Amino acid sequence: MVFTLDASSLSQWQSCKRKYVINRDYVPRKWRPKNLLAKCLREAIFQISNGADAVKAADDARVAFLRIANEPGLDYPDYDTYQISKDMCAVMDVVIRCISKLVLLAVEEADDIMVSGDVIWKTLCWQDESGLLHRWVFLDKPDNDKIITEGHSWYVAGDIMLSRLPMTLHVVDIGRMRQGRFRSPWTTAYVLSMLPNTDYHFLSPRGEELKGKWNPKYLSDQAAYADYDEWADRIHHEGMAMRLIQHIPVKCPEISACNETDRMVVNEAHDMRDAILAWNKYPMNRGSCDLYSACPHQNLCYSVLPVNIASSSLYIPRKTDSVLA
Ligand code: SF4
Repeated sequence: MVFTLDASSLSQWQSCKRKYVINRDYVPRKWRPKNLLAKCLREAIFQISNGADAVKAADDARVAFLRIANEPGLDYPDYDTYQISKDMCAVMDVVIRCISKLVLLAVEEADDIMVSGDVIWKTLCWQDESGLLHRWVFLDKPDNDKIITEGHSWYVAGDIMLSRLPMTLHVVDIGRMRQGRFRSPWTTAYVLSMLPNTDYHFLSPRGEELKGKWNPKYLSDQAAYADYDEWADRIHHEGMAMRLIQHIPVKCPEISACNETDRMVVNEAHDMRDAILAWNKYPMNRGSCDLYSACPHQNLCYSVLPVNIASSSLYIPRKTDSVLA
């Protein structure tokens, strides 16, 4: 039997076997806001890379986001998810318009790789006509450490080494949740505190950050008067947009490293294929429960009583082609 794995499933398997076994058949019904934001942005960038109109792509992304945010909903307990949705939709409206101003190569889903006679690696990145791979990621203040972590992940290193192709990693500084709001540099401009009705700006004429007498003005707080085209034009022309996107070339390592990666992936794939079905037979990997963010399965693992996932309203059966963002 041929077994298919990808960067997402392999990462889950290696972080916690329970998590992998649960995710193989079920996904949490509600979406983490940042995962949904990344999914909608990637879909829009794929469209505009292939010639779609930016405003239409942004409108589609907004509709897709709000539809999911409404039902099944966002997993962000104790906060106003309607407000978070408004904040994130404003971010998408600006980011998609600004990315459409870049020179984007037409892309398609990269080919899957037959790693051995019984193992297929499903690539999750895109590929342009020259063969170069592309992956877009959305991070909060992406410094060297975060970019290196991303580069070492199966999503980047795995797709590169199994495909034997280089990649351009596109990194977007997207912002973060803060006190129940999603604050992003894409939707935060500045106005003079003593003249609040004058023009907003993102950088000084000399390209410096605006501080001191400058107060923040948030796009999603501009109610029905928000002009996304003007906002995107200004953040682009003042040079702020270019500071928020990095395009990082990542080479393919030597063939010996790629061959060794093939061997590791095949070994892991065989263990994943043979994984037992009962998720709670695997020991908890507590080091992963709160790594970066709380694992969505804590409701299961930390429950006092055994939980039957199939009858839990918190989960839905996974579609065979669905991958968490
Ligand atoms: S809550 Fe912890 S033990 Fe349970 S699946 Fe998540 S990481 Fe694994």
